[in-house]
Amino acid sequence: MKGFEYLQEELDAMKKEGTFRKLVPLESEQGSKVVVNGKEVIQLSSNNYLGLTSHPRLRKAALDAVEQYGAGTGSVRTIAGTLTMHEELEKKLAEFKHTEASLVFQSGFTTNQGVLSAILSPEDVVISDALNHASIIDGIRLTKAARKVYKHVDMQDLERALQESKDFRKRLIVTDGVFSMDGNIAPLPKIVELAEKYDALIMVDDAHASGVLGQNGRGTVNHFGLDGRVHIQVGTLSKAIGVLGGYVASSRTLIDYLIHKGRPFLFSTSHPPAVTMACIEAINVLLEEPELIEKLWDNTRFFKQGLEQLGFNTGKSETPVTPVIVGDEALSHQFSDKLLQYGVFAQGIAFPTVAKGMARVRTIVTAQHSREELQAALDAFEKAGKELGII
Ligand code: PMP
Repeated sequence: MKGFEYLQEELDAMKKEGTFRKLVPLESEQGSKVVVNGKEVIQLSSNNYLGLTSHPRLRKAALDAVEQYGAGTGSVRTIAGTLTMHEELEKKLAEFKHTEASLVFQSGFTTNQGVLSAILSPEDVVISDALNHASIIDGIRLTKAARKVYKHVDMQDLERALQESKDFRKRLIVTDGVFSMDGNIAPLPKIVELAEKYDALIMVDDAHASGVLGQNGRGTVNHFGLDGRVHIQVGTLSKAIGVLGGYVASSRTLIDYLIHKGRPFLFSTSHPPAVTMACIEAINVLLEEPELIEKLWDNTRFFKQGLEQLGFNTGKSETPVTPVIVGDEALSHQFSDKLLQYGVFAQGIAFPTVAKGMARVRTIVTAQHSREELQAALDAFEKAGKELGII
């Protein structure tokens, strides 16, 4: 069909510079190993931190939900699509996060968009870390509030932004809890100190910290012992929780406000029963099987040390998100292709997801990986890395 030549030109340029990517369909279920192009390979690219996507208890919860409640809900939450199980999940999430209330959205992405666009007006200012997730950036673009960006985890720069913001009605500091491309943890204790000094609200996106950090995976706020001092905690149900969705945990007032003003919540159909019941069961698993988180961290330490001993640059990672930074965009994709050839699925990530010149292969180990699988992955990294002159 004609009409899209202007877009095709851009795609052709990407092909030329080696940054055009095809989707890689998995031919098996998600797990420590997956089948790609008919071949079984070690999976190091999923966010399935605890292996819950295929946990027997979640499978059963989803199947039972379909049997009992059917496949869909037929409405948005505010009209006819709230099932008692949606409220049960929200109660569970609030208890888990030690907050008064919580609200589930269709995804982590829409949660950030929905919250930021709802609660800020032109008389407010939002102050955002430079490396925050795209959904936070897009959420900020949807508000009419003033915007300030502080240098990544630079607390002096955050203080400067706060000093310049004294005349606004509300100041909202927003940060990822764990940064999704670098795996470093936000300096929340200092952020809380500054927020209290300058009377600011704090919003933390714990997409990569829930199920990973804190008691039973409660996230960065709990990890730092800051329960009750961070106003808004956002999370996803799609990563460690293993299913789909996002949520915000906060005060009853904020949640009631979002029920009336959170646009993705208001205008998009609610989660199907299978998703909702599997999420409820995932929280039960977090509370009852803490050994999964221990295994995740054991595997993380082993793999990160292995990469560092081989001479790879893993940046500032402090969590299971471990980048192997190579710099050049095309090289990161070549590296990823070679790894696949040697039995490891680890995707190259380049601009615009990360800054130009900071391309990388990003790895995430899970609780499901065995030591043998991780050693085999390290061997593949060594071989591919040497062949491409990365180490
Ligand atoms: N926030 C962060 C920090 C993320 O990494 C992601 C996932 N890419 C999201 C939000 C979006 O979550 P979801 O996949 O549930 O939309």
